[in-house]
Amino acid sequence: MQTKTEIIAVGSELLLGQIANTNAQFLSQQLAELGVNVYHHTVVGDNHKRLEETIRIAEERANIIIFTGGLGPTKDDLTKETLAKVLGTELVTDQDAMTYIEEYYKRSKRTMSENNKKQALVLKGAQVLKNEYGMAPGMVLKKNERIYMMFPGPPSELQPMFLNHGKPYIMDALGEQDKIISRVLRFFGIGESQLETDIEDLIEGQTNPTIAPYAGDGEVTLRLTAKHAEETTAIQLLNGLEEKVKERAGAYLYGYEDTSIMQELVKVLLDQKLTISAAESLTGGLFSEQMTACKGTSSVLLGGIVCYSTEIKEKLVKVRPETLENEGAVSDQCARELAENIRMITGSDIGIGFTGEAGPVAMEDKPVGTVYIGIAINGKETKTYLLNLAGNRDGIRKRTVKYGCYYLLQLLKSKS
Ligand code: ATP
Repeated sequence: MQTKTEIIAVGSELLLGQIANTNAQFLSQQLAELGVNVYHHTVVGDNHKRLEETIRIAEERANIIIFTGGLGPTKDDLTKETLAKVLGTELVTDQDAMTYIEEYYKRSKRTMSENNKKQALVLKGAQVLKNEYGMAPGMVLKKNERIYMMFPGPPSELQPMFLNHGKPYIMDALGEQDKIISRVLRFFGIGESQLETDIEDLIEGQTNPTIAPYAGDGEVTLRLTAKHAEETTAIQLLNGLEEKVKERAGAYLYGYEDTSIMQELVKVLLDQKLTISAAESLTGGLFSEQMTACKGTSSVLLGGIVCYSTEIKEKLVKVRPETLENEGAVSDQCARELAENIRMITGSDIGIGFTGEAGPVAMEDKPVGTVYIGIAINGKETKTYLLNLAGNRDGIRKRTVKYGCYYLLQLLKSKS
């Protein structure tokens, strides 16, 4: 089957710009991995007539039509009602869905309002997809050589429903026997264009496995996807490609799947039984905040000081007045003292210090984006790093934290 897919997101909130169409993004990424062609994304409001027109247009150009949203209990939820009208079919009550909804209300000891029964209505002849995280079931219907799929709007409901029921259905419909396995490689410290240049020949020659680069938040990821009837062979294909990628850019690879550079740092600190503390000027506590969000931090992070003003740098973190006067707060020497002093004050194994100009206006004579990071490790020579970051205030602060994690990880790895 030559696939031509259209994803129709239903909801006026999308048109008003109140929410972004992340469902279309998620579904497109998933379908790309299956080799299913997505040719159109459409967004339409909660309006019966315009939805009907949208469906008719989609039928002209697609053989897989996927709807998201508009399956709920309220009057403006009209996806299945409109599709039933276009297909000349009717809605019938699905007893399993009805029981599930009734039990949900019993369990949560709430009274079920009459309109909730609407959620158990499904298109006649449709295969019902169970909603494990909400009430409105999804549906798949094969009619007139086309596949119609309906998913609820909330991503927390749509995503598991697609992965557990929608994806297997599509693979089945395509006669797909192969196992499809993906692996995400995460890089930091290398730009997207540099990484792509380094692996250009691999990207150009890709067939199986495929490589999909993605950049965001100062990081680059590569999603490798392999297909094979045997899972072990698909894994071997991924391993082979990963090795080739590592030969070129292994120095920048810091982790896999949905980890973060901070999580990787916490893992290494835990492994090496090291404690850390932070003196944060430019980052205003962001490093500590992100570290405390990771599991296991209590035996790693001792504490820190947000030393935004010169006075606090001097009084609490004991940065020397000469340093502040002669070199300025945004200086290599200040970052060095922040790191060394916070380590001494807290008695941790490692001290890290952040200082810089986040903008929008430079306070000292250094340009916006000038950042110094100091790292003091007990028994080792203190290291300092100078960065010249582009972007806005928020981006500069976030990337500074990532660079801090990255440099420290490198120092810790070179030690072992
Ligand atoms: P419910 O049963 O919760 O009413 P529904 O299928 O009727 O689900 P909608 O009412 O259209 O879905 O949307 C519910 C919520 O799901 C929205 O408020 C929004 O938070 C989220 N949502 C809807 N469509 C999308 C989309 N295309 N991308 C991302 N989020 C979406």
